[in-house]
Amino acid sequence: MSAPILRRLADLRAATARWRGAGETVAVVPTMGALHEGHLSLVRAAKAGADRVIVTIFVNPRQFDNPDDLARYPRTEQSDAQKLAPFGVDAIYVPDPDQVYPAGFATTVSVTGVSAGLCGAHRPGHFDGVATVVAKLFLQTGAELAYFGEKDFQQLMVVRTLARDLDIAVRIIGCPTVREADGLALSSRNVRLPEQARAAAPALYAALSGAAAAIRAGAGIEGALATARAQILAGGYDSVEYLELRAAATLAPLAVLGEPARLLAAAHLGDVRLIDNVPVIPA
Ligand code: AMP
Repeated sequence: MSAPILRRLADLRAATARWRGAGETVAVVPTMGALHEGHLSLVRAAKAGADRVIVTIFVNPRQFDNPDDLARYPRTEQSDAQKLAPFGVDAIYVPDPDQVYPAGFATTVSVTGVSAGLCGAHRPGHFDGVATVVAKLFLQTGAELAYFGEKDFQQLMVVRTLARDLDIAVRIIGCPTVREADGLALSSRNVRLPEQARAAAPALYAALSGAAAAIRAGAGIEGALATARAQILAGGYDSVEYLELRAAATLAPLAVLGEPARLLAAAHLGDVRLIDNVPVIPA
């Protein structure tokens, strides 16, 4: 049975009040729709972790730094609802824009520190947009549990930080990146890759994995990153926006592998920007 689609905050609150009154736990899976197996893995985890699951679908204009990217972002509500049907989620919250940003909306949630550098350096305002909408979705749903993908590792850190700093009583659960058989991380933007670019796209993950293995085995970080950068370009990417080793717990830059780390990259393939990251755990 497909889940009810709720478009008004009052309807969402009526549903969550009923559930909470019955002593049930509530989880939220925030998405921008165009659902794929990566999103569905979060839904699966949420179903296993809570009595009630809300999937939110909202293409949040405030987190797009590029108007073209916003205009071209896929919107596939009907097929999203169909993909969710087998999971038995309890509500799909697709808020009308004024339910998130009513007239006169004047507040921005801005997380410093973990949002600096990486995607934060290249997408001005992006993480403010993410933090603002995620804070709103936490408060609107009142969920005790929230599921996010490690695919967007910096975003996951921004979300953890805002929940902690604002005393929002939600537990953030990070879930592993779901990949195609050839290693490419699933992304709603992959549908925009023409055939040749799609064939080149796995080079990003291959280079990150190679560099992670080399660094774990004791290779110098600078050399390993330079090799990975060259491999990404040789694999068919047009440019590498960033490629950095950061501390997994804080996202602080790392010069030596003295603690669990994350290797993160963004690269451009034609007019599509892809991001990916892998863990680098010291031996
Ligand atoms: P989006 O719709 O792109 O905003 O993503 C919604 C959620 O799905 C975020 O928490 C993402 O990190 C997560 N997500 C996107 N792609 C993947 C993937 N390939 N594997 C796991 N989670 C993902």
